[in-house]
Amino acid sequence: MQLTDSINKVRGVGVKKAAAFARLGICTVYDLLTYYPRTYEDQSHTTPINRLRPGERSTVLGVIQSVTERPTRRRSFTVLTAMVGDGTGYVQAVWFNQRFLKSKLREGQRILLSGKVDYAYNTRGQLAISGITSFEILGTQDAPEEYLGILPIYGATEGLTQKQLRQMVEYALVQTEGALSETLPARIREEYRLIGRTAAFHRIHFPKQEEELLAARRRLAFEELYLIQCGLLALKKRTAEEQEGITHATGGALAARVLAALPFDLTADQEKVWEEIKRDMESPLPMRRLVQGDVGSGKTAIALLALVKTVESGQQGALMAPTEILARQHYEYLQELLAPLGVRVGFLSGRLTKKERTEIATALAAHEVDIAVGTHALIQEYVAFDKLGLVVTDEQHRFGVAQRAALEKKSTVTPDVLVMTATPIPRTMTLTVYGDLDVSRIEHLPPGRQPIRTFLRDEMAREKIYAFVRKEIESGRQAYVVCPLIEASEESDLPSAEEVYEELAHGIFYGISCGLLHGRMKSAEKEAVMSAFYADEIKLLVSTTVIEVGVNVPNASILVVEHAERFGLAQLHQLRGRVGRGSYASYCILIAGRSASSQERLKVIEQTSDGFQLAEEDLRLRGPGQFFGAMQHGLGDLKIANVFTDMDLLLLARRAALATVDDPAMFSFVLPALMRQYREQFAYIREV
Ligand code: ADP
Ligand code: MG
Repeated sequence: MQLTDSINKVRGVGVKKAAAFARLGICTVYDLLTYYPRTYEDQSHTTPINRLRPGERSTVLGVIQSVTERPTRRRSFTVLTAMVGDGTGYVQAVWFNQRFLKSKLREGQRILLSGKVDYAYNTRGQLAISGITSFEILGTQDAPEEYLGILPIYGATEGLTQKQLRQMVEYALVQTEGALSETLPARIREEYRLIGRTAAFHRIHFPKQEEELLAARRRLAFEELYLIQCGLLALKKRTAEEQEGITHATGGALAARVLAALPFDLTADQEKVWEEIKRDMESPLPMRRLVQGDVGSGKTAIALLALVKTVESGQQGALMAPTEILARQHYEYLQELLAPLGVRVGFLSGRLTKKERTEIATALAAHEVDIAVGTHALIQEYVAFDKLGLVVTDEQHRFGVAQRAALEKKSTVTPDVLVMTATPIPRTMTLTVYGDLDVSRIEHLPPGRQPIRTFLRDEMAREKIYAFVRKEIESGRQAYVVCPLIEASEESDLPSAEEVYEELAHGIFYGISCGLLHGRMKSAEKEAVMSAFYADEIKLLVSTTVIEVGVNVPNASILVVEHAERFGLAQLHQLRGRVGRGSYASYCILIAGRSASSQERLKVIEQTSDGFQLAEEDLRLRGPGQFFGAMQHGLGDLKIANVFTDMDLLLLARRAALATVDDPAMFSFVLPALMRQYREQFAYIREV
């Protein structure tokens, strides 16, 4: 049997079961083998009957004394009871509605049985085992040890029983015995003391003891992290060694003019990062650098300077943003600053008409535009640059590795790549998501910022809060109100952006110009609202999280979040970054329900403005699944490793991967497995 064989080659899988597997995302034999147990039940030892304790799950070995079957009082189902004795005492084994079992159980048989111990119904202090997860009738020759072990419990199994799943996994394991080839080089396995792959698969599903399980898990989690690291590091290495990069010119009269045109001096951190970028750009190797800086730390200015530098070297630049609003904002900012200096800036998004798109594409190909600002549309097939020298992606966590690669392919020589992110990813996670990049950090915010004061309030304070907002607006400021939903919904009684807008605009903010913004509005409508807000024509903007990333209106000094408990901490931190961007005292007011858990969680954000600390807290509270989900890192979900609890393993895997990509023999050993699992993401390694 091959690992790539369809799941219906497994004994017992017919059309119906195959459909059930499909719902679990299991199509092949390999998918089944990597459907790792969610948890385990320890049946590695038996308990003498006189030592059973109510409430515990236990395994008992004894002899059946008697079997009785009776209907329940309402006759709706049957109860089958076997009295089991082992010399230390007696216990009832109870099955509900399993009449077919009656013929299988006979007096005098040896039985090994696991389930939950409790007081028997209608008896005084006698114990019974019900919720029986497994039992075996043992022949006189059978050694009970054969059947003891740790039982896998699989996650969702709709349409399949745990027992069926176990049998099918076992069948697949036996049938593929020879096919599960080793993916880790022997040297790595030895150095990191990892068990073989075949053994690991057997033991992750059917461990005999806990140590076996731990060793199997460690091995498989290591493999998973290691392959990703090998992919990322190989990508980085190939790019550096084998690709022709662009040597940007030194000097920089144009960049100097832009610097002079900026209304501020760069901070020391910005200087440092700009120096690192210049060095990379002036070197013949392609740049691959990540700039990490909290919201409001001034990453846009850095992007601007880098783009100007590429233009100055006779190249074109591309600036890619994850949302239309953000792309527009960047476009207008660049246009305003650069047009007077003779730099031609163009805009491209999927929302343009076909004619407009063709026009800009033609202009880019003819090098009539120096800098293209846009959304994902920039990586579409029809866009070709004349000389693409630099690609900047803003808020990169929205773009996957594959998309990044697609944009780089738009040129025969490899353009320099700069990635900006405000997501304060813990260091070890940076290695997983951005393992192919060098990292620069802007650690301090520009001077003169008033700290944003954050308040956590409940519904009762709503009126007072909005009265305060009104006062701020009357003194010249602007404000955001963020809501979790766009429109009212049947399922939820949360107020929607539309409802809150109606309520506020016609109520307490009567006479003040209010705007509504959400993702389902037409592009032109959104633009009109945003430009009115930028122009200070709209004073109060009610919106959904569409304003989450990047929006920059320095005059806005208050952000109110309705139902703050519906948002993650990292997300609230991003939202909070919309204010405090100018020199005004700024406020972030979170309105949340009174439940203790949401109040406790939100207290953290009230107390700290450190994005890194919040990200770690979020990670701790919500688990890496959601955290990673939100980042869409493009490498799919981790099946067994856990970036949060396996940090140490991740560092080991990274070290092992570093040694691997520098050793051609080892790397070619790993390559097939890498391609099997991440062909799409790392196709580029293969092509070279
Ligand atoms: P982000 O890193 O979130 O993208 P921006 O680049 O949008 O931050 O900058 C936030 C605000 O700080 C903008 O209004 C920008 O003009 C301002 N800013 C950037 N750098 C400096 C600086 N060195 N001194 C003062 N203000 C700055
Ligand atoms: Mg930004």
